[in-house]
Amino acid sequence: MALDDMPEAGTIEIDALVIGAGPVGLFAVFELGLVDIKSLVIDILGKPGGQCSELYPEKPIYDIPALPTVTGQELTDRLLEQVKPFGAKFVFGERVDELQRGEDGRFHIKTDAGRAVVAKVVVIAAGGGSFTPKRPPIEGIEAYEGKSVHYAVRRMEDLRGKDVLIVGGGDSALDWTLNLAPLAKSLTLLHRRDEFRGAPHSVEQMRALVAEGRVRLIIGQMAKIDGADGELEAVTVKTAAGEEKLPINAMLPFFGLTMKLGPVAHWGLNLNENLILVDTERFETSEKGIFAIGDINWYPGKLKLILSGFHEAALMAQAAHKIVHPDKKLLFQYTTSSSSLQKKLGVK
Ligand code: FAD
Repeated sequence: MALDDMPEAGTIEIDALVIGAGPVGLFAVFELGLVDIKSLVIDILGKPGGQCSELYPEKPIYDIPALPTVTGQELTDRLLEQVKPFGAKFVFGERVDELQRGEDGRFHIKTDAGRAVVAKVVVIAAGGGSFTPKRPPIEGIEAYEGKSVHYAVRRMEDLRGKDVLIVGGGDSALDWTLNLAPLAKSLTLLHRRDEFRGAPHSVEQMRALVAEGRVRLIIGQMAKIDGADGELEAVTVKTAAGEEKLPINAMLPFFGLTMKLGPVAHWGLNLNENLILVDTERFETSEKGIFAIGDINWYPGKLKLILSGFHEAALMAQAAHKIVHPDKKLLFQYTTSSSSLQKKLGVK
C-alpha cells in the first residue's frame, strides 16, 4: 500500500491538507495529484475509508459508476490503489483541531496530538464530522460496548452462531437483520412500533424472514440487560403483553448517529445547519483556499452520495491548482490520451 505514514513530529509543509480519509478525501488526493498538488491526509479514525470502512465495510454499494457492486471496504481499497502513484502522506488517529490563515497567506493547522501543518490549500472532506452512534438509554450499557454491544458490524463472522438482538427500525437495523439472519444462531429484531423507516423492499424481505420463522420480530422496547465482564447474557424487553427475558449474547442497537461537526464549527466558515456552505463551481467555502467536499458541504440540490463527492473533488482540484500553482496554466486533458497524465499515473 502506498500509505506513507508520518510518525515523526515537527511542522509539515505541504501543498494541500485533506481533512478526512473517507472515500471523498481519498479521491481528492487523486484529483489533486493529477494537477501536481501534493496532499497530506489526516483522519481521526485509525484507518482510511470514513463511513465506508467504519460503518459498513462488508455491505455492498450499488451506485458507484461502473462498479455494479462493491463493498465499503473494497471501495476504500480500490481508492487507495488509485491514489498510490501520487505518494500522499497519511496521518491516522489524529483530529484536526485548529485552522487559521498565517501572515504568509498559507494555512496553519494543529492536530489534537500537537502536530503542526502548513498548507497552501485546505480540503475539508470531514463527512459527518466526528460521528458518534446514539447510545440507547439503558443503565450500564457502556460496560458491554465493543464486547457484546456493537454500533457497527466490523466482521460479520464475529456474529456467527450467536443469539443476536438488533434494535431499531431504520435502514441499518433492517439491512443487518437481512445480512445476519443466515449466520446467527437466532436473530430477533426489536422495534418500538410495527412501522419501519427503512427502504420498503428491505421491510418486505424482513417480513418474509419473519413469516418463515427465521427472524423473530418483537414490537416493544428494551428494559434491562444482564451479563458479566462485558458479555451479555440476556435482554429484557417490554411489550404490550408484558416483560420477556431473551437469551442474547450480541446486541446491535441502531438508534442513529449524532453528527457532531466538532472543531470545523470553530473555523469561522459560513455554515448551513452544521454543513459548510460552498459554491458549485469550485466547492470553495467562505474562506478563499479552503474547500469543502463530500458529506460535509451544502449547496442547493446537494445529494449526500459518494459519486457527488467524487465530482466535487474534480472541480475543487481545478480551483486549488490556481492557488497552488498561480503561474501555471492548467490544460484540460483526458487520462486516456494525455501522456503527461499517464506519466504522473506511472502507466507511461
Ligand atoms: P466520510 O465517509 O464521513 O469520511 C469523513 C472522514 O473525516 C471520517 O473518517 C472522519 O473520521 C474524518 N474527520 C471528520 N472530522 C475530522 C477532523 N476534524 N480531523 C480528522 N478527521 C476528521 N453512499 C452512496 O453513495 N451509496 C450508498 O449505497 C451508500 N450507502 C450507505 C450506507 C450506510 C449504512 C451509510 C452510513 C452511508 C451510506 N452512504 C452511501 C453514504 C456514504 O457513505 C457517504 O456519502 C460517504 O461516506 C461520504 O464520504 P466523505 O468522504 O464525504 O465522508
